[in-house]
Amino acid sequence: MGKVFVFDVSKCSGCRNCQIACKDEHVDNDWSPYAKPQPDTGQFWNRIEEKVRGQVPKVKVAYTLHMCQHCDDAPCMKAAPEAVYKREDGLVIIDPDKAKGCEKLANACPYGAIFWNEELELPQKCTGCAHLIDAGQIPHCVDVCAHGAIRFGDEEEFAEEIAQAQALVPERADLDRPRVYYLNMPKRFLAGIVIDPEEDEVIIGAKVTAQNIGTGEVLVTQTDEFGDFWFHQVSAAQWRVYVEADGYMTRVFEESTTEEDRNTGPLELYRNAL
Ligand code: SF4
Ligand code: SF4
Repeated sequence: MGKVFVFDVSKCSGCRNCQIACKDEHVDNDWSPYAKPQPDTGQFWNRIEEKVRGQVPKVKVAYTLHMCQHCDDAPCMKAAPEAVYKREDGLVIIDPDKAKGCEKLANACPYGAIFWNEELELPQKCTGCAHLIDAGQIPHCVDVCAHGAIRFGDEEEFAEEIAQAQALVPERADLDRPRVYYLNMPKRFLAGIVIDPEEDEVIIGAKVTAQNIGTGEVLVTQTDEFGDFWFHQVSAAQWRVYVEADGYMTRVFEESTTEEDRNTGPLELYRNAL
């Protein structure tokens, strides 16, 4: 048992206070034996990546934390066992004295978390603010996050959330056994708007049914007061969509969320002939 980070995507506003805090903590500060100073440009030991999902006007933005995952089976440790070690609390540290000149380490991390400092001839990355942990404090990025999107603590304290979490790169989870856990990672959405082109009005309360063609899963919703419908957190799949409203002919079409979130755009319903 050791320390873990838990990042909740649904709580992150993208303010990037955490990125600035990392700079504040490490630029011009020598925290040997854990890290030499971070350069003020060119390196982000933690970084919030913004992803715009969907198509205008149905767009959502998701922010995801990228940083050293403090892997239990770390590829960087295998690449340079003489220079990288794991502390008892689980934090992975590049020893700045032993790693001097070890440029190959900069390419050893599958998460892109290690940076090469040309001036110091050092590979560098997040230390989990090990110098603060030793002083009974928490990492600076965690401390400044007003939304509680990044948390840090004992593994057992987060056991329930860890059971529901996923890895940043799910296909590498068993390989590297990362110690940064992600909650509420976005799946896909499928959305659109239903309109009556003859009346030039949106249709409120239309029933929209989405059937996953591969699994048969069926989802049902209704258009809101703006004529919009949203299916959130759906699978990456091919969908058959039925749009029904009283007095209108039913519309059926197929849509794919395999590659990306989908905004179907305006769906026109025509009135039944009398
Ligand atoms: S400080 Fe918190 S809310 Fe702001 S970008 Fe970082 S994780 Fe997200
Ligand atoms: S995320 Fe990269 S740098 Fe961090 S422990 Fe894993 S392999 Fe090493």
